[in-house]
Amino acid sequence: MEDCLFCKIIAGEIPSNKVYEDELCYAFYDIAPQAPTHFLVVPKKHISGVSEICEENAAVVAHIFSVISKVTKELGLASYRVVSNCGEDAGQTVFHLHFHVLGGARLADGMC
Ligand code: AMP
Ligand code: ZN
Repeated sequence: MEDCLFCKIIAGEIPSNKVYEDELCYAFYDIAPQAPTHFLVVPKKHISGVSEICEENAAVVAHIFSVISKVTKELGLASYRVVSNCGEDAGQTVFHLHFHVLGGARLADGMC
């Protein structure tokens, strides 16, 4: 999608620090980490956020969670948090579906 930061990162038009890639998804370290390990996992096909997930495109979300399970093991993360902000009031700033994966320290209690 034009003018989407994460589509540009997936296309290699904007540099990123890659964690993992396959035909369906791309994972890269967050530019402003909120934990010692903080990366994002995004579908390669543009979906604007959780509110746009439907029966037709939901399979990629299951795939992303299997990737999170695999990559966190490879990184040695026993504990981690997975977060997806949906909508401006929830703190979404990039409108391409992404799952934050945060770990590497004892995380603060609460939802975020
Ligand atoms: P959200 O605020 O939930 O939409 O998450 C967007 C995330 O993208 C934030 O944590 C930003 O730090 C991160 N971010 C923005 N630009 C980049 C970039 N060029 N490379 C990596 N992460 C980025
Ligand atoms: Zn996009």
